Amino acid sequence: MNDQDRISAAWAASYLDPMRAIALGRTVAEADGELAAEGWLHVALGEVRVGDPKLALQALEQARRRFGPAGNLRGLALCDEVKAIQLRRLGDHNSAMRLLADIDARGDLGYTASDRYLALNSRAITHKALGQVDEALRDFYAALETAQACGLLGQRITALTNLGGYHKDLHNLESARSYSEEALSAARDARAPVCIAAAAVNLIHTYHACGQFGEARAVAAYLLDYEGELLPGTLRQHQLPLALAHLGVGELDAAQQYLDRSAPNALGQCDNLVLWSWLQARCLLLRSNATRARLLAERALSDKPSWQAGNADFETLQLLHVCADACEALGDTAAALAWLRRANQVFEGLVSRSARARSTALQASYELAQAQRERDIARDSHRSVEDDRRRLVQLNQALQAQVQETEMLHLRLREQALRDPLTGLHNRRYLFEMAPGLLDLARRQAAPLCVVLIDLDHFKLLNDTYGHHAGDAVLQRFASLLAQMLRRSDVVCRHGGEEFVAVMPDIDADGAQTMLTRLLQAYQGQQQDVGRRKLPSCSFSAGIAVFPTHGSSLEQLLSRADRALYSAKARGRARIEKMPMTDFGTFS
Ligand code: GH3
Ligand code: MG
Ligand code: MG
Repeated sequence: MNDQDRISAAWAASYLDPMRAIALGRTVAEADGELAAEGWLHVALGEVRVGDPKLALQALEQARRRFGPAGNLRGLALCDEVKAIQLRRLGDHNSAMRLLADIDARGDLGYTASDRYLALNSRAITHKALGQVDEALRDFYAALETAQACGLLGQRITALTNLGGYHKDLHNLESARSYSEEALSAARDARAPVCIAAAAVNLIHTYHACGQFGEARAVAAYLLDYEGELLPGTLRQHQLPLALAHLGVGELDAAQQYLDRSAPNALGQCDNLVLWSWLQARCLLLRSNATRARLLAERALSDKPSWQAGNADFETLQLLHVCADACEALGDTAAALAWLRRANQVFEGLVSRSARARSTALQASYELAQAQRERDIARDSHRSVEDDRRRLVQLNQALQAQVQETEMLHLRLREQALRDPLTGLHNRRYLFEMAPGLLDLARRQAAPLCVVLIDLDHFKLLNDTYGHHAGDAVLQRFASLLAQMLRRSDVVCRHGGEEFVAVMPDIDADGAQTMLTRLLQAYQGQQQDVGRRKLPSCSFSAGIAVFPTHGSSLEQLLSRADRALYSAKARGRARIEKMPMTDFGTFS
């Protein structure tokens, strides 16, 4: 192998096997021939990524000392690329970005395809660290395209892994799964341990978030089988994903072992405190230690006060859910609800960011496909017009299909945000979104509209006697009875706890009372059992307010209906009360 071959081999190895790239670079560097500067560059690049930062700096100095006098602008720019990676590794992302912008301002540097991959990947990761999602996505896609163009396997696997990982962070799970699966399978084919570990870890997280727990566990098993071939210490860095994979399939003892090995130190520091706390609290909860689970989860959340939409992440969402579950298990429903409300906020942040990321990704891949097409045309001037037209049609069809898929996803996520997970009914948010339109319509048509507040009777007693699960089952059955017996035009939702609201257009108070009386009779007549235990007959109380007599906004009508409900409770429950037509200021 001559020096030129060694440098080419170093580029090919730089992502598949960085240690080999370093060794090749060092051989060329120490021979001190014409390509010594390139050799030092590879030593620097490899050391800064997986080795010793001090050695990287020394090698970089050597490379600069040789590229400089030769006026090699490409070489000097690549030295700056390595320097930018080093700044990023030190956490100084702003300086890294400034240096990258400075390189970009130098114009055409004669970069080869593998130089361009290095540059694009580095820009993408820096944008990602700075939270610049659109720019990061564009660069990750451009990096993938360049990796494909330069024909180097390691670059392609790394590009797929990075895209998969970033889509996972953005909770864009379908893309995350497909890129990570492709990355892992290519890494397996290439038998490249460094690439396998990164792709497998992304895939464990992604499968878990998709609810594919068995698949996540299988990837962990593969990683453990492969342990002998991974770089030393690799598995030690990935204890948390391994814990996640075991926990997903209920292997508590195994999960606990990994959690113990990655527990926070005496200063409370840990690789990923939110993830660790989520998993540890979930383990405690599964072992019925709700008190400790709550304490742990609440402490981790108090250390991380900023879960606004912008930095919403899946792990914080899970931690909030554990908190809510622990509070619920301890009977503190008010706290559970408060945590769930926060979880909802985080979820909305995740959903909107993921939808946006999806459309940016779509646009980026479309633009790259267009650019590729233009390049193909330039290269092959004999291509027939008909061929081009067909390709464009195909491209457009693919784009259309993806746009439709994105819209479907949008709708599905929106639907999830507007539903109560326990009963499948709509939630309060949906009610408040729909009500103004219904009230407007009633106003224009001068038609009546009833707002009904329904509250199950003695529900706490039922929970206390038969357990929370029985309570949940009763809520679910009542919800399906409601959906079945009210009209399709009525908006029915779970208002919270054991309270439900129906907004009933085109019906007056007497009509609504008749329908609800029928519902009450049906509910009281329902035979309910949980497991082998028969539940006693259940009832509800309801209060009715009518638009426009009792108010013109949903808030006013709900408050009147609540007063009527209060009276129904006071008069013995299992009854439906209307607000009187006049004098709704006082109610006896
Ligand atoms: P009343 O007849 O006066 O309405 O009495 P009640 O016991 O129904 O009313 P109260 O407001 O005292 O209790 C409501 C109970 O509902 C307390 C709470 O634990 C329970 N609850 C709230 N949400 C849920 C839930 O999602 N599942 C279960 N099982 N119980 C819930
Ligand atoms: Mg209540
Ligand atoms: Mg009640």
